[in-house]
Amino acid sequence: MKVMKFGGTSVGSAQRMKNVAQLIHDNNRNLVVLSAMSGTTNSLIEISDYYAKGNKESASAVVNILRNLYTKHIGELYATEQKKKEMSDFMETVFHEIMLLGAEPYTDNIGKAIVAKGEIMSTHMVTAYLEECGIKAQLLSAFDFMRTDQEGQPDMKYLHDALIPLIDSNPDAEIFITQGFICLNHEGHIDNLQRGGSDYTASLIGAAIRAEEIQIWTDIDGMHNNDPRFVDNTRPVPQLSFEEAAELAYFGAKILHPTCVLPAKFAGVPVKLLNTMEPQAKGTIINNQLSEENKIKAIAAKDNITAVKIVSSRMLLATGFLRKVFEIFETFHTSIDMVTTSEVGISMSIDNTDNLSKIAEELRKYGTVEIDRNMCIICVVGDLRMQNTGIESLVTDALKDIPIRMISYGGSEHNISFLIHEADKQKALQALSNKIF
Ligand code: ASP
Ligand code: MG
Repeated sequence: MKVMKFGGTSVGSAQRMKNVAQLIHDNNRNLVVLSAMSGTTNSLIEISDYYAKGNKESASAVVNILRNLYTKHIGELYATEQKKKEMSDFMETVFHEIMLLGAEPYTDNIGKAIVAKGEIMSTHMVTAYLEECGIKAQLLSAFDFMRTDQEGQPDMKYLHDALIPLIDSNPDAEIFITQGFICLNHEGHIDNLQRGGSDYTASLIGAAIRAEEIQIWTDIDGMHNNDPRFVDNTRPVPQLSFEEAAELAYFGAKILHPTCVLPAKFAGVPVKLLNTMEPQAKGTIINNQLSEENKIKAIAAKDNITAVKIVSSRMLLATGFLRKVFEIFETFHTSIDMVTTSEVGISMSIDNTDNLSKIAEELRKYGTVEIDRNMCIICVVGDLRMQNTGIESLVTDALKDIPIRMISYGGSEHNISFLIHEADKQKALQALSNKIF
């Protein structure tokens, strides 16, 4: 059994849904995880924001836009009048439920129940289409097995114990469909796994049922060796280790959500990144193998980074200084990406600046604080073990004309990161590609 996840663009139109139906049916009883149609989650967030502000009129206007859009999709997707009617009625119930939720006093739970409708609609549409094609498709509600615990983390044991019997109790099903992203929380209220969370759903399910593999289908042929939006002639990387994939996903490769890597890694289930537009392409496989020794595999960049530097003579020969500094970031729920230290100073990079002024105020009790905004992390990933000489110099040589604010190497054996000005990003990515690939 494979877990196959299709993102918003892959189910973004009736035609796209038909293509997906072709790809998922292979007599293997696969479990298919779907996102909402592209744009829908954003519209639903807009609707719940309007309700939160008490603006029912604007909420209704957006509901109507969605209603028209889905009417069009239904007209295009189904062949028979009976299915068209059945699905129009279903959509009407969904939109009616959204309006009913909006009539109640707004809470976060209401907002999340509204946002969850996107995946509910897309999965019903595809299931009904498969049925119309004569395929025995079984829709499983994510609310029956996907749950988070008191810390807001996915409850893996519950997932395993609830999902396996659901699969077993449907021996005739040729294929299973379920919603990505959405879940219940520990109190039983509708919740979600954060934006882009469908990849995470697929990985959690794949780990829970020990799937043969987890396939993440998007519209690019795998993880590329550099950012195709900024650099010419990039190509897909055939294989990555879980660690390499995690670094790339975290540091900017948009194709895979960073949370998706861990569950699959721990369960030892390989993850394949595949292209719905070019299903025959090999894509990228992520597994536990170390291949391509002594090579750089890929480069990614993450924007909107802020560097925070604290310089203090008090740090000289002192113990516990780092702890004090890190504790300040912890207190304000801000995670640090890169760190470099000298005997009298520390530089750190963050991507969430919500509490930056409070952090800076606290830090000023210990030293002089400097903040650089609009920075970007360039992350170079590959086999960077200590004994592999020459790789660091190759990389720094490529960046010789670019002002560098921080360099981080040795945190792991598979990456070296640079902090530069965002304005230099494209130049840096291209220079690295020219030198390395
Ligand atoms: N529909 C959700 C979102 O847009 C989840 C996902 O697509 O992964 O964030
Ligand atoms: Mg996505």
